[in-house]
Amino acid sequence: MHKKLFIPGPTEVMDEILNAMSVPMMGHRSKEFAALMEEVVPKIQKLFYTENFIILSTSSGTGLMEAASRNVVKKKALHTICGAFSKRWAQISKANGKEIDVIEVPFGKAILPEEIDKKLKTGEFDTVFVTHNETSTGVMHNLEEMADVIRKYPDVVWCVDAVSSAGGIKIEVDKLGIDVLVTSTQKAIALPPGLAIGVVSEKALKRAEEVENRGYYFDFLTFKKYWDKRHQTPTTPSISHIYALNVQMDRIFKEGLDNRFNRHIEMAKYVREWARKNFKLFPEEKYLSYTLTTVENTRGISVAGLNEELAKRGATISNGYGDLKEKTFRIAHMGDLTLDDMKWLLAQIDEILGL
Ligand SMILES: *Cc1c(COP(=O)(O)O)cnc(C)c1O
Repeated sequence: MHKKLFIPGPTEVMDEILNAMSVPMMGHRSKEFAALMEEVVPKIQKLFYTENFIILSTSSGTGLMEAASRNVVKKKALHTICGAFSKRWAQISKANGKEIDVIEVPFGKAILPEEIDKKLKTGEFDTVFVTHNETSTGVMHNLEEMADVIRKYPDVVWCVDAVSSAGGIKIEVDKLGIDVLVTSTQKAIALPPGLAIGVVSEKALKRAEEVENRGYYFDFLTFKKYWDKRHQTPTTPSISHIYALNVQMDRIFKEGLDNRFNRHIEMAKYVREWARKNFKLFPEEKYLSYTLTTVENTRGISVAGLNEELAKRGATISNGYGDLKEKTFRIAHMGDLTLDDMKWLLAQIDEILGL
């Protein structure tokens, strides 16, 4: 039996999208492929309220996180760590020989803009990394309040991991001044895993020109060159994913961007209410995520046991991440899930736990 995915990626994929993955191939150096790219790229720009350069990378999101570290950090980067994925980005920068400093807060807490301000004021940093939605803890940052601070430092390149938020919640890239936004497509965009999207500003591309050893596969400037010349990708992409992305973008606009974002907010509010009533919310109240809810296991239930029972009913949720395993559990409400799906899921959990 298929278990409906209430996990923060990969998410449930619509049949229409699965079908779009199985169309016959074409050459990636053909005019037809360029035409597909010409169709899909403006749709991605519309989704992110941007005119910036779009990269379609055949990799998971982590690939483009590495790309950001390699392409834009020249002198020293500030990493903001509030959970496992933001920590991963710091490790990536280090693994690529970049000099870094960190702001680190306990899991469940958010990074405060004042702290970023204090660090950037030193003038030591040319890049700052922020994780919009920390999937390991369920903290979602407020990008507007961060933008207000970061905008004071025009020489700093701002990189945002929006892997588990993009496509589920509004991110106005140009208005915010985000220089590099990276996301995977298997989360709130609800495609099968294997394709990542980058949104790269003119400023970030200029920076890349000054950075040596950008590597080969993820060199922003190579992506730009192939786009400018032929509207193609530097290497053979997952054409199936790009077909599916094109179809999914049409579905997203058919629903309407605001409707889509509101659906996520509605689902989040519903799940939070349930969690408050029966358990406790793990992240701090002001920074609760709209795409997943992390619940503190105040009843000491067996999360693994709950998932076994849910599996029999055709659903799966996520245990806590890493050290938070069994101490928390995570319910994702992202992608193409609906409020009815959430109502159904929570009713199952109520029954299983006798709540
Ligand atoms: C899932 C996730 C990643 C990793 O993405 P992959 O596509 O698995 O490489 C990075 N950051 C966040 C916030 C995530 O949720």
